Amino acid sequence: MDAIFKEFNRLSKSSGFAKCEAQVDSFLETLELAKTAITKDPQNVAKYVREMKIKLDLIASKITEYEKEIYSSIAKYGKSLDKTFRLDLSSAYNPKMFPISPNDDLNRAILVHFARNGHFDIAREFMDETHITIQTSLLDQFSIMYKIVQALNNEDLGPAIEWASTKRKELLELGSNLEFVLHKVQFTRLVLGSDDIAIPFNYARKNLSVFGDRYSNEISRLMCSTLYRKNIERSPYQDIFNLPSYEKLAWMFSSEFCFLLGLSPESPIYLAVTAGSLSLPILAKLEVLMKSKKAEWTTTNELPTEIPLPKSLVFHSIFVCPVSREQTTEENPPKVLPCGHILAENSLKSMQKDHISHSIKCPYCPTETTVAQAKRVYF
Ligand SMILES: [Zn+2]
Repeated sequence: MDAIFKEFNRLSKSSGFAKCEAQVDSFLETLELAKTAITKDPQNVAKYVREMKIKLDLIASKITEYEKEIYSSIAKYGKSLDKTFRLDLSSAYNPKMFPISPNDDLNRAILVHFARNGHFDIAREFMDETHITIQTSLLDQFSIMYKIVQALNNEDLGPAIEWASTKRKELLELGSNLEFVLHKVQFTRLVLGSDDIAIPFNYARKNLSVFGDRYSNEISRLMCSTLYRKNIERSPYQDIFNLPSYEKLAWMFSSEFCFLLGLSPESPIYLAVTAGSLSLPILAKLEVLMKSKKAEWTTTNELPTEIPLPKSLVFHSIFVCPVSREQTTEENPPKVLPCGHILAENSLKSMQKDHISHSIKCPYCPTETTVAQAKRVYF
């Protein structure tokens, strides 16, 4: 890595850029001077053009010379990058293990990603090229969402509060506290920003009373915190003023907005690309190791190694049957026995085959049971 930083510093400090810029400036200056001279003395156009051409040729040759200096630094930087990150991405892709069936699902997911992130022009272009469409009503919803996100990014809470109040019932059913959080941020802004204490009080009276049942303690603390507004840092209410950033509020809002539309809080494409990028070095290394051992993956849809991902990218546990040592799938789901032990369905079925009697014994405790009594579990 040191070599990369060294070359990057050399490139960023290269005097070639400044020298080129100065030459381009004098190029423009020469043109301007020639223009003025020709305007003043139109009889001698040929003479001025000749003089100008000599000067410009000289400048152009200097620019070429300085460019060489820049290109040499860029090439050295590129080489140090290639040397440090010797990752052949194609080695991480094994088509046998990750079969891609040609269907529109991926394109649709890409389209929805563009739309939910407010790239409506790209989404329209994408629809034209792929002939895949999404409902106009969904596009309209994304447009509303994007406008509110933009307002939040501009520190304007109004549109988000208005939306949250119209969706109060649905948000309540979700167990969401978004509307209250938005009002809380607005209230604290008024406490810190107004000299007249009546302003936040009136805001609270008008907007917070509806939350009295659920957030009475928080509301009491909010009201008490106003007494310390000139000295928040040394008050017992300091924590109230550690407010979420507008970026975080925008994320909270868009997550809940998407949730009410039946979509995941984060874009599936974003998650897949992030998790995939983090997995690539491990997959590439794995492929190299397997090649050197002349081994091959034997199971599809299952990795022969665990890939550690950050918590934000882990959504559910993976269950491996303790009997067959196979990862459970939709076709071979995990089943819980009445005793609480869990096995894969195929393991239960093969145990049943081995028993002449209808009942089977749990491999981990003395309980006798039947396959029919086992219930599907979801992780
Ligand atoms: Zn058991």
